Amino acid sequence: MSTKPILIVGGGPAGLAAAHSLASVGQKSIIVEKEDALGGTPILSGYAKLVPSGEWAKDAIGGMVDRVTGNKLITVKTGTTVKEFSGKPGNFSVKYSEGKGNSVSSAVLCTGFTHFDSINKPEWGFGTYPDVVTTTQVEQMISSGQGVRRPSNGEKPKRVAILLCVGSRDRQIGREWCSKICCTVSANLAMEIREELPDCHVYVYYMDIRTFGLLETKYYWKSQEEFKVKYIKARIAEVTSDGDKVIVKGEDTLVKRPITIPFDMVVHAVGMDPNVDNMLLSSIFDVNLEPNGFIDRQNSYGGMGASSREGVFVAGSATGPETIDDSIAQGQAAAFSALAIANGQMAAAE
Ligand SMILES: Cc1cc2nc3c(=O)[nH]c(=O)nc-3n(C[C@H](O)[C@H](O)[C@H](O)COP(=O)(O)OP(=O)(O)OC[C@H]3O[C@@H](n4cnc5c(N)ncnc54)[C@H](O)[C@@H]3O)c2cc1C
Ligand code: SF4
Repeated sequence: MSTKPILIVGGGPAGLAAAHSLASVGQKSIIVEKEDALGGTPILSGYAKLVPSGEWAKDAIGGMVDRVTGNKLITVKTGTTVKEFSGKPGNFSVKYSEGKGNSVSSAVLCTGFTHFDSINKPEWGFGTYPDVVTTTQVEQMISSGQGVRRPSNGEKPKRVAILLCVGSRDRQIGREWCSKICCTVSANLAMEIREELPDCHVYVYYMDIRTFGLLETKYYWKSQEEFKVKYIKARIAEVTSDGDKVIVKGEDTLVKRPITIPFDMVVHAVGMDPNVDNMLLSSIFDVNLEPNGFIDRQNSYGGMGASSREGVFVAGSATGPETIDDSIAQGQAAAFSALAIANGQMAAAE
């Protein structure tokens, strides 16, 4: 094992998995996390039950945090960022925001994503009408125990619309990518709403449904057949209000008819944007971004998670929209590529 630690930037699922797998083979690492707590977006944003495991985020990801914080081989620096990074594979030097620094053999960037801010889709009513919320807010209503309520008056909604692809697959606002998980998360939230509020009708407005792989049965079909969630293929033009209800206007693209439908709540299924820090990270670590602004991955089959800079690796949703499972797998794979560099056993892009 290298006597120098491996630097892991970001303490979400990818970073936690990277640190834990390195510790499991006796390698030291340092996790640098800018927020005051570990766990990444599922913990910091208060997600409820995760797909596809059905576990509460605080238990599933909380367990990952616990096994890292108790480990002697892992140093955790929360409320900290990297200010300077220089040197070469096997011998990089790092300076932290608190002024201190040290030497590391390699680095894994696990800096994740930023939620799409629905304010950037103003015609769909977020920020204008209080009863237009995001999937993240509904997750928080459920995980806090408050339950799903209309923000305007605290009442239980009787009709909820979930709009898919908000901030994804939308060329008009420069976001062409599919965020991968929001169809499944939305089907899951629709079932949770129906379970909590059996009198509430839930409609999902979609362009396409991408509950990929085995998720099709567990979420798409189950939500319709067991939970009576209704799916409408539509192009949404705008969300307005009559002062009480929020009104979804657009076109039902299967029957090619205009629709104007009132709801008590409208939920934006927000997508995954590149981390707002990526320009800064790109300059500090001297790594390339791909055209959409995520951190570019050089080589997927040889040096897993290699970035454009030798000795610096990248994993999880820092590289583009990813699920938790895939972020964990990538964190582990990139950690072992970083370990090979630390042990002098591999050229970065091999
Ligand atoms: C509404 C919604 C619901 C979702 N639900 C699910 C689900 O149920 N199941 C599922 O599989 N996926 C779900 N996802 C996707 C899931 O959030 C990601 O797969 C997961 O968070 C990726 O983990 P990560 O470690 O790559 O990134 P993150 O979880 O984003 O963690 C990145 C960490 O890096 C830190 N960081 C960022 N920048 C810096 C910096 N400059 N310096 C230091 N630290 C930094 C952040 O503070 C954060 O702690 C959902 C996504 C959305 C939008
Ligand atoms: S996963 Fe579904 S909601 Fe999310 S961007 Fe892709 S198609 Fe749209």
